[in-house]
Amino acid sequence: MTTIGKATLQSDDEGLVTLQCDRCKSRFKMDCAYLDELDRDIFCPACGISESLSTFWPEEVVEEAAKVAMMEAEKMIAQAFKGLNSKHVKVKMPPVHQVDTQLTFKNKDYDMQVTEIQCCDKKIGLNSIDYTSGFYCPYCGRMVK
Ligand SMILES: [Zn+2]
Ligand SMILES: [Zn+2]
Repeated sequence: MTTIGKATLQSDDEGLVTLQCDRCKSRFKMDCAYLDELDRDIFCPACGISESLSTFWPEEVVEEAAKVAMMEAEKMIAQAFKGLNSKHVKVKMPPVHQVDTQLTFKNKDYDMQVTEIQCCDKKIGLNSIDYTSGFYCPYCGRMVK
């Protein structure tokens, strides 16, 4: 499992986690154990840019994480206003929705081709289009094909 803030990405049966490039929107999978101990940037296999892992969260994960952040902010505001309720100030807040703030994203099957990369001796998952048109190693940035 790889965790960002309160969102957790669950790896698939092969220990791979789905990521998405913020720039070209390509999805790919990388080794979960590697990502957990990551201390440097990773590379998009399709366009080759290197960025920190946080820019590779799939859009549905970013959306959900943003929703949770909004709800939590709402809750904090509601709590802050409670203290203001006095005979001078009456504040009515709509009830705050309760949300499950622990998000777990199951690895959806994006029909990826899993391949072992020689240079880093690790597996990756790629869309077959990216696979056939050539790609970079997401671990070291080398051109694989
Ligand atoms: Zn890209
Ligand atoms: Zn490599």
